[in-house]
Amino acid sequence: MIKFLDLQKINARFETQFQEKFQDFLSLGQYILGEEVSTFESEYAKYCGTKYCIGVSSGLDALQLIFEAYKILGKLEDGDEIIVPANTYIASILAISHKGLKPVLVEPNLETFNINPIEVEKAITPKTKAILGVHLYGKLYDVAALNKISKAYNLLLIEDAAQAHGAVYRDGRKAGNVSNTAAFSFYPTKNLGALGEAGAITTNDSALAEVLYRLRNYGRGTSYKNDYKGYNCRLDEIQAAFLRIKLNYLDEDNNRRREIASRYFQDMNSENVKLPYSKDLNEHVFHLFVVRSRRREELKDYLYKNGIETFVHYPIPTHKQKAYQGLNNQKYPITEKIHKEVLSLPINQLLETQEVEKIVAVISNYK
Ligand SMILES: *Cc1c(COP(=O)(O)O)cnc(C)c1O
Repeated sequence: MIKFLDLQKINARFETQFQEKFQDFLSLGQYILGEEVSTFESEYAKYCGTKYCIGVSSGLDALQLIFEAYKILGKLEDGDEIIVPANTYIASILAISHKGLKPVLVEPNLETFNINPIEVEKAITPKTKAILGVHLYGKLYDVAALNKISKAYNLLLIEDAAQAHGAVYRDGRKAGNVSNTAAFSFYPTKNLGALGEAGAITTNDSALAEVLYRLRNYGRGTSYKNDYKGYNCRLDEIQAAFLRIKLNYLDEDNNRRREIASRYFQDMNSENVKLPYSKDLNEHVFHLFVVRSRRREELKDYLYKNGIETFVHYPIPTHKQKAYQGLNNQKYPITEKIHKEVLSLPINQLLETQEVEKIVAVISNYK
């Protein structure tokens, strides 16, 4: 069976380095907000090209802290409308709701799976204060269009970059550096994954960074002076140490994913399987390789019978979830079509060439 993703195998490559780090960690006895966190923050900021990186406890916390910080800075208030793609993972939308803000769901573009700028502009009201763009499946959203809209309507632009570590825009800027501020997740399955929970926020805005460094740590700075009602949302020291090791391999791993994607684009050929958007490969880090099929369940079974494990990202859109009953009567036909038709094929840096060839052949034989 070709596994969709073998996390044990992904991390086995770094075992010796992890063990050395863990030994140092035990000798040092510095467990919380130590040198590994601060060094990772400088290294990840440098990688993304931003002035600041704030290490936090997860991707969801990164998003929530961004909204909270903007409230503290007076740029957002309760009830403000935040535009977000309807087909994102539920975490993006939860962060908005949990902070007393109102998620305004907008349809994506069927080709790129990313938020449709034309629909964004239609959804703007006097209460709209921000756009939460999501680089879904690892592909940058339409950076030029969203920047233009956010400037024209004076809206904050926030990236959910949880799936796009290392994606490069055509002007050379990376995911995390094409908006006001970005949230990253280092959940173990992401392109840059920790061995537990972890996340980060990047920004060039010094006032925002200043609030965030405190907010994640009870609202305090270096002393016991608390200016805000903060949280315990710190990036764990040992996760930062592991992430520092893995960051060195991120570009290489992303390139391997692109290489596999190129092979899929070149040779995969079935009338009943629609391949994803294949242009601007640098803007995509192929966190997922998502195809569409009218007979998705049948395709999934066929692949499984042929030894290929796949997943659906995601089976139920947020507005159809019980948790979001208030949104249930709204219609998002493109989003619903996507959730019915998508299937994620294996794509990770450890897939062997012969496995890639098998996946290509099995799909191409699908009638
Ligand atoms: C993974 C993910 C998150 C949440 O990250 P966690 O670290 O699991 O909290 C948010 N948004 C998107 C798009 C994600 O893929």
